[in-house]
Amino acid sequence: DSVVPSSKVPIKDVNECITCHICKGYIIDATTIVECCHSFCHSCIVPHLRTKEYCPKCELIINKTKPNIKPDATFQAIVYKLVPGLYEKELLRRRNFYETRPEEAKLA
Ligand SMILES: [Zn+2]
Ligand SMILES: [Zn+2]
Repeated sequence: DSVVPSSKVPIKDVNECITCHICKGYIIDATTIVECCHSFCHSCIVPHLRTKEYCPKCELIINKTKPNIKPDATFQAIVYKLVPGLYEKELLRRRNFYETRPEEAKLA
């Protein structure tokens, strides 16, 4: 008998793909390096690329002056779908963040 692939992927098998290599948490505001297709949190990869010119995961050299990164809404939707409660948690975190910093809420 051949094994029928299950459509339900165990969370531990996908954790590797949906975890940010920089902060080790689940990826928030997924941003993907186009050259190697690795994704990170926006707030993690942007400061990283200010000082370094390689992918934190595979160490592929990328163009520092004009890093080829793109926001990845599709990927982020997958992360939120795979991690129950993550989206609500992030919304709450943002609300708390802006409540304590009303001056930044105005800029957002
Ligand atoms: Zn991160
Ligand atoms: Zn990479």
